[in-house]
Amino acid sequence: MDLIIAANWKMHKTTAETIEYCQAIRKDEELFKGLELLVCPPFTALPAAAQILKGSPIKLGAQDMHWEQKGAFTGEVSSAMLLDLGVEYVIIGHSERRHLLGESDLWVNQKMKAALTSGIKPILCVGETEAEREQSITEEVLKRQLSSALKELQAETVKSLVVAYEPVWAIGTGKAASPGDAENASAYIRTIVKDIFGKDTGDSLFIQYGGSVNEDNIGLFAVLPSVQGVLVGGASLKADTFSALIQAARKAVES
Ligand code: PEP
Repeated sequence: MDLIIAANWKMHKTTAETIEYCQAIRKDEELFKGLELLVCPPFTALPAAAQILKGSPIKLGAQDMHWEQKGAFTGEVSSAMLLDLGVEYVIIGHSERRHLLGESDLWVNQKMKAALTSGIKPILCVGETEAEREQSITEEVLKRQLSSALKELQAETVKSLVVAYEPVWAIGTGKAASPGDAENASAYIRTIVKDIFGKDTGDSLFIQYGGSVNEDNIGLFAVLPSVQGVLVGGASLKADTFSALIQAARKAVES
């Protein structure tokens, strides 16, 4: 199974910076063979990224989308608009949206349904806060987020889903989860999906770890049995650092 390595740029990069980054990363694309790589720029940078990455194995992802196709939703972007730009993946339910912008479990579920219906592959983010971890309710939180986000979805569709386990306390803090904690949480996520949708679906699911992943620690996560990739924020912002991180992941998997 390929590793899925996703770069979440968050609210970073103008068009000029996007062009520079994408041109630089394309120079290394021969080194990325056999991996599923994607960059998720802000909406405004998607057209430039799409243009430079055309013909490259590096895929394009968006950081969010609305569940409606069109209408009076000021500031929002639909799946049709993303597909129009060649977007193949969309991050749904990122913790910064859940915790800073008030995105609810219900909205996450509506976005999941809309993404899957439109043919964009969602990367569903789940994870506990520091307070929830201290209260030892990580599993409870993961179970609630998953059951709600996957409500009314079909087992066949969930099979190809990517779920990113992103403990909130590890995002942007430089304090990554231990490989043991990442493995346990990922294995638990798979168990929940198996309980809801059956063994085949749970076994087919792709699970990423996200939270302060960098070139030095990626090897620890890339080889975990329950983890098939990483979602990277800060360490994906410079093309050379991201390229080094990808090569470190490949080295760890191949050794
Ligand atoms: C993220 O944005 O999903 C993320 C994991 O960020 P960072 O790698 O900076 O912790």
